[in-house]
Amino acid sequence: MGFKPFIAIGHGVTTENKWDPGTVWENNVEADIAKIIVGGILEVFVSNGKDYVTDYPENDMNIIECVESANKRGCTHYVSIHLDWEKAESGMFALYVSDAGAALGADIRNAVTSRMDYIDKGNRYQDDYEVTGTLMEATIFEAGSIDDDGQFLKDNGRFFGNCIAYGIMDRAGENYKELDGSVVVAPSKPENKPESSGKIEEDGKWGSDTTSKAQNKFGTPVDGVISGQLESCREYICEDYGTFEWDNGDGSPFISALQRLIGANDDGWFGFESAVKLQTFLKVPADGYIGPVSVLAFQKWLNS
Ligand SMILES: [Zn+2]
Repeated sequence: MGFKPFIAIGHGVTTENKWDPGTVWENNVEADIAKIIVGGILEVFVSNGKDYVTDYPENDMNIIECVESANKRGCTHYVSIHLDWEKAESGMFALYVSDAGAALGADIRNAVTSRMDYIDKGNRYQDDYEVTGTLMEATIFEAGSIDDDGQFLKDNGRFFGNCIAYGIMDRAGENYKELDGSVVVAPSKPENKPESSGKIEEDGKWGSDTTSKAQNKFGTPVDGVISGQLESCREYICEDYGTFEWDNGDGSPFISALQRLIGANDDGWFGFESAVKLQTFLKVPADGYIGPVSVLAFQKWLNS
């Protein structure tokens, strides 16, 4: 299978073919900034002679047409560039529905953070059309907050886009030459370098990196997602960075393993009892509500 990514500028036209700028804040327009970033992605593919399909620069295809076109033309990867609204916290994250989509998102985020100083908010499971409408590796890439990051991305969007292109090629195992001349041959795929291998950032935020690291430590499948959790237990996680799935499912094998360690009932659902036992284990105040203090202690334990 060859390498042929579809790179979409998020928004542009609605399914009724009306103009859709996406989210707008002061002079920052989602579709305009996404277009700068896509320009940066494509310039890397052009300089490396890679095949691709895109709605750049016209941005005249709605999301149904983008996904259909990617499917019909045999694309291997689908990446749609978006920005989040003004209430979103600064930083990027990748939306996915499949494991391969999550791996693609992780490689893109890694390619950005290894080349520039930018906040990484991890991967998030979210079943939006652009990722559910295709079986290829797909991510809706939220490049940043329209408010906090809009101006930065207007100024640095091309380089940010370059990094995204490197990440897509890292994921695909494609050889490439960066625009500054450095050569990357046969980049290792995420299967070979799980994001859980190194130390995680000790920032008190329980995101997918923390979960991946923990899954790796407990030897349960590493996907950065705590699946099958009970909606009624959501309150015990003070700030949710998208790693918990509150879908009233069967529980998470990783949580069961954690529960066995901390002496809680190993039903796979993280609730009040697990919160208290985890806090006791971590020697932080055991009030049953997992917030930055508990998460920081958990991250330090994971890194130790
Ligand atoms: Zn959007």
